[in-house]
Amino acid sequence: MRKKDTRPHDDSYVDNLRRMFSKREMYKATCVKCGNACEVPFKPIEGKPVYCRECYRKR
Ligand SMILES: [Zn+2]
Repeated sequence: MRKKDTRPHDDSYVDNLRRMFSKREMYKATCVKCGNACEVPFKPIEGKPVYCRECYRKR
């Protein structure tokens, strides 16, 4: 049986992805609604409102 799609690069790529997801870098931000410090799984963009989990749920 021959596998055409076996590429060594894909292995490290998937490995990287998996590591990224398990690591989940959190960024410190301030909630625009309640002013509490919170952490978001994405890099806060300037000028874009960030909500903490509580406020996000209440929206
Ligand atoms: Zn909030």
